[in-house]
Amino acid sequence: MDIAIDKDVCIGAGQCALTAPGVFTQDDDGFSEVLPGREDGGGAPLVREAARACPVGAITVSEA
Ligand code: SF4
Repeated sequence: MDIAIDKDVCIGAGQCALTAPGVFTQDDDGFSEVLPGREDGGGAPLVREAARACPVGAITVSEA
């Protein structure tokens, strides 16, 4: 699994970090980022749900 966040699109709504806190966090400006070492999703089942929860579609999850 490969997770990509388009920071040009992210509005810092935080839904991703709320939905999958083991994978996503928010930086000092409130924008989403993937936790270090979790770029592959870390087996977290809620990664796809987090991508769906993003109101602006900034998260792309693909099978690597
Ligand atoms: S849910 Fe989407 S808009 Fe909100 S912080 Fe996460 S990536 Fe950004």
